[in-house]
Amino acid sequence: MALRELKVCLLGDTGVGKSSIVWRFVEDSFDPNINPTIGASFMTKTVQYQNELHKFLIWDTAGQERFRALAPMYYRGSAAAIIVYHITKEETFSTLKNWVKELCQHGPPNTVVAIAGNKCDLIDVREVKERDAKDYPDSIHAIFVERSAKNATNINELFIEISRRIPSTD
Ligand code: GDP
Repeated sequence: MALRELKVCLLGDTGVGKSSIVWRFVEDSFDPNINPTIGASFMTKTVQYQNELHKFLIWDTAGQERFRALAPMYYRGSAAAIIVYHITKEETFSTLKNWVKELCQHGPPNTVVAIAGNKCDLIDVREVKERDAKDYPDSIHAIFVERSAKNATNINELFIEISRRIPSTD
């Protein structure tokens, strides 16, 4: 069976749930007391989809200001970036637009961009409406998904959609 290796990095503010998304995808579990990422962490997961094995090499970066300067090291080598905000904090949605700008200016051309509105289990305290959020990713042809690392909503689908959008190098 053919094997594709796909480098993906996660970007976004501290606390939006980047590590929890990776943890949910790789281990299928959720830890409410997850430790903050220092610098960056690396994990892999292989998924079978349509007679192909998709091996995701995932770089989870720290959102703290003092680590931001390191992010280019990770997104420059990535075929895709998942930029995460959380639906109960409007500010995190504004920040993601800065990440998109930075990727467009300094990242490799044709990086697949996915925007993930995390913590969608917290719908009662939502600040960013799904309809409003969707216009922005649509305008830049990014993948958009609202998801919950806690409830395992839409996680595998997000990674498979990313893989579908990354052109094959064969
Ligand atoms: P990171 O700094 O972006 O990597 O964020 P973390 O993955 O460390 O998550 C920050 C906090 O948000 C932790 O307390 C997580 O348990 C919590 N969290 C992450 N994802 C979700 C989610 O989908 N729903 C809820 N309710 N909490 C979440």
